[in-house]
Amino acid sequence: MAKTYALPPLPYKYGDLQPHISEKIMTLHHDKHHQAYVTGANTALDKLEKARKGEMQIDVRAVLRDFSFNVDGHILHSIFWPNMAPPGNGGGSPGGKLADWINRDFGGFDKFKAQFSDAAKTVEGRGWALLLHDHETDQLVLTQVEKQNFMHLAQMKILLGLDVWEHAYYLDYLNDRGKYVEAWWNVVNWSDVDSRLSKVQ
Ligand code: MN
Repeated sequence: MAKTYALPPLPYKYGDLQPHISEKIMTLHHDKHHQAYVTGANTALDKLEKARKGEMQIDVRAVLRDFSFNVDGHILHSIFWPNMAPPGNGGGSPGGKLADWINRDFGGFDKFKAQFSDAAKTVEGRGWALLLHDHETDQLVLTQVEKQNFMHLAQMKILLGLDVWEHAYYLDYLNDRGKYVEAWWNVVNWSDVDSRLSKVQ
């Protein structure tokens, strides 16, 4: 059986972030909310497998949306927990390479902190503020995530992609995306896809 998603334990006790974050919210947040994302991601994978075997009829769009929402919640929370430490170990300002890079890319820790706080405070609805490293420009950048969908893209290596924006097919297939999708299988470069897979650690 394939490996499934699992809830990682907290790297400290539920009450260790007090007085800043209560034991009660840490318990609910980890044991209920994060667990629900893990369960939801595994349930979506199971539904997709059953549908492939013909054991279940599913709405692929809805199940993939569920999968993204839940696996992304799982990934982000798995980063969020160890991103925190009990007061004394946590807090203050960074040192080492991180401090150097923050100085270089944000013009100082205070400026970084102000902009990150601003990002967090202005996320529309539920979401996240994130500090990321962009491989292409080799620099640190900020981003806001509304809800949490599609952040798994940062963790998962893309092997094969199909652009279904209208600009990719409209001149050839007008509004018939299905026809374009079927035709596209004739031009897939499987050895490129395979070489991408072989670079995965
Ligand atoms: Mn959460």
